[in-house]
Amino acid sequence: MNTIKHIGILSSGGDAPGMNAAIRAVVRTAIYHGLQVSGIYRGYQGLVDNSINTMHSSSVSNIIQSGGTLLKTARCRDFLNKAGREKARQNLQEHGIDALVVIGGDGTFRGAKVFGDEFGFPVIGIPGTIDNDLYGTDNTIGYDTALNTIVNAVDKIRDTATAHNRLFFIEVMGREAGFLALSGGIASGAEVVLVPEIEDDYKQLHDFLKSGYKKGKNSSIVLVSEGDEIGGALRIAENVENTYPEYDVRVTILGHLQRGGAPSAYDRVSASRMGVSAVNALLDGKAGIMVGLVNHCIAHTSFGDALKHKKPLNAHLLEIMKILSI
Ligand code: ADP
Repeated sequence: MNTIKHIGILSSGGDAPGMNAAIRAVVRTAIYHGLQVSGIYRGYQGLVDNSINTMHSSSVSNIIQSGGTLLKTARCRDFLNKAGREKARQNLQEHGIDALVVIGGDGTFRGAKVFGDEFGFPVIGIPGTIDNDLYGTDNTIGYDTALNTIVNAVDKIRDTATAHNRLFFIEVMGREAGFLALSGGIASGAEVVLVPEIEDDYKQLHDFLKSGYKKGKNSSIVLVSEGDEIGGALRIAENVENTYPEYDVRVTILGHLQRGGAPSAYDRVSASRMGVSAVNALLDGKAGIMVGLVNHCIAHTSFGDALKHKKPLNAHLLEIMKILSI
């Protein structure tokens, strides 16, 4: 028989639009099943500092449309050592919390795994990061919103690039993964994308620069993933300017605006599905897993597997990018 009566919920690591929708889903599903639910502020730091409050259905009213996270987020050094995690365990015990749902990226899940293994404490993860770099889910919460933000920005830059016949290098987020750059490139009709996963993409850039000028293109957009091995849009643009003086080169770094804004409908629905499923999984006696979406269905992946595997870029999307940018 399942003994879970009181769930704690926190968001941790980098924020992502849609985290609020996931928090709302967890809180309301817990209440629906007659459980108590508490919000932990500032991620694992709130666990260590005992910053924990009871949540009600009304605590999550009117947040589904907001970016950021109601519970705040943080990076917590204390949680990296056993003494910090022991403090966290004591605080959870004091509040009578017997299970945790954590929303975050791979770092958050690393912490969740260590904590769960150390104390036999049930923890379920919900993937929340704009980078989409988690194995075991097709989309992470926030990715779709960030993608739409990128496409809106690139569309605007395309207007001015065309007016002046310019070549723009636009740097997007993604850490060591090129999901935002690749899908953003396809959706905005970029001429080239530079992603960390593809080693010879710099050659593709040179090929394009040679042929694009001859074709008389009146604007060119190159999306650069921040983790690209060549080293950022500014550096690449500088090299290109030196090698191809015929191009009028500009650089835009989209930066943190990719993290904010109202979550897209897709992110809100995904976050709601994952939030409901996370509580249901705990009630089914599951622990140490991430709840994701694979082929539009809820899928459970152990923290161990989610952390061990690197999610590859979709080969079909890479091919589409190549074909459509000629
Ligand atoms: P994200 O979840 O966005 O990847 P971070 O990598 O910053 O964000 O991780 C969030 C937090 O998870 C860290 O600040 C730390 O408190 C915790 N964490 C990360 N790795 C570990 C680990 N190996 N052991 C314990 N806690 C960890």
